[in-house]
Amino acid sequence: MSLFSAVEMAPRDPILGLNEQFNADTNPAKVNLGVGVYFDDNGKLPLLQCVLAAEKAMLDAPKPHGYLPIDGIAAYDTAVKSLVFGTDSEPVTSGRVATVQALGGTGGLKVGADFLKKLNPAAKVLISDPSWENHRALFTNAGFKVESYRYYDETTRNLNFDGMLADLNAAEAGTVVVLHACCHNPTGYDISPAQWDQVIAAVKARGLVPFLDMAYQGFGYGLAEDGAVVGKFVAAGLMFFVATSFSKSFSLYGERVGALSVLCTDKEEAGRVLSQLKIVIRTNYSNPPTFGGAVVATVLNTPELRALWEKELGDMRVRIKAMRQKLVDGLKAAGITQDMSFITTQIGMFSYSGLSKDQMVRLRNEFGVYGTDTGRMCVAALNSKNIDYVCASIAKVI
Ligand code: PMP
Repeated sequence: MSLFSAVEMAPRDPILGLNEQFNADTNPAKVNLGVGVYFDDNGKLPLLQCVLAAEKAMLDAPKPHGYLPIDGIAAYDTAVKSLVFGTDSEPVTSGRVATVQALGGTGGLKVGADFLKKLNPAAKVLISDPSWENHRALFTNAGFKVESYRYYDETTRNLNFDGMLADLNAAEAGTVVVLHACCHNPTGYDISPAQWDQVIAAVKARGLVPFLDMAYQGFGYGLAEDGAVVGKFVAAGLMFFVATSFSKSFSLYGERVGALSVLCTDKEEAGRVLSQLKIVIRTNYSNPPTFGGAVVATVLNTPELRALWEKELGDMRVRIKAMRQKLVDGLKAAGITQDMSFITTQIGMFSYSGLSKDQMVRLRNEFGVYGTDTGRMCVAALNSKNIDYVCASIAKVI
């Protein structure tokens, strides 16, 4: 009898499980559209030039490896605030944003979740249906009851905005609402600015607690454009949470660079909130790692590197859009008669293709084209070499 006899085998992470299956696949033509990672036109994970330049500068001026403060690098937190709220915005100049460096966007969400659980233990959490796989698990593990609001309609293959609004309007006061700030994962469908206004009005009227997950700022229409939704929440006078991720926008996946920002009423309140976020961090992992935060802080705070980053991020965004168009054109050329143009109205790294589970399984088993069973494909992994093969394969299963 072992201490661990009763430990059950946990289910595999669906996306990482897919990755393992992909790696074991011997089909030379295989294409991985499963995982949410941006690859360049050669199918390679990019090392951004701005990141390389910051790394070189850091190597040229080596520093010993001390501990960071609990809330991370001060210059990093300041840069995140500017990026999320705008440099000269009122929340930043008045000092009413509490920002902490976090272990990726996931870490930002978890620090926020743990803080919220202490603040309001009885609150429920609402996530979109469907949402990023980890939202439900993360908030459940933080102790919350997690439910969903309608978002995507399988039959119309489009947003169910009326359903979303109805569900928000039916939520109890104090409910935490997790909202994808831009580039919704997994569907690729974002709500319009006018619809955001309605969501904000509902959140305000019902006394809900907005938690914006901003994992793809810059991948939709641009940094400022994608960040505009934050400004709308500020203008509405709401207090809210924003989780930032630089995994994709800096191609720094493994360095775990992200942040949590909490907008408070005033500077004094932000100081108290910050002190509590620091307790959450201190009792979980004490303080964040240095490297990724130092790279991002260097890039964001050095004008030439910042300009280079914006260009490189813009190039990624433009390439993804070009691939969406190529996918639509290629599917048509491959003989698909149904209208697939919705792929170009979707935004960000993902597309809900509308393909069924059976079709996705066939794509995988017969053609080595990997997407999730839900029909999600990462369009940021398409390139000029694999696109024809992917289109031809999809045409054979439709
Ligand atoms: N939120 C969403 C919606 C995501 O898609 C992701 C990454 N796939 C994250 C959060 C987490 O990002 P990170 O890898 O920086 O933890």
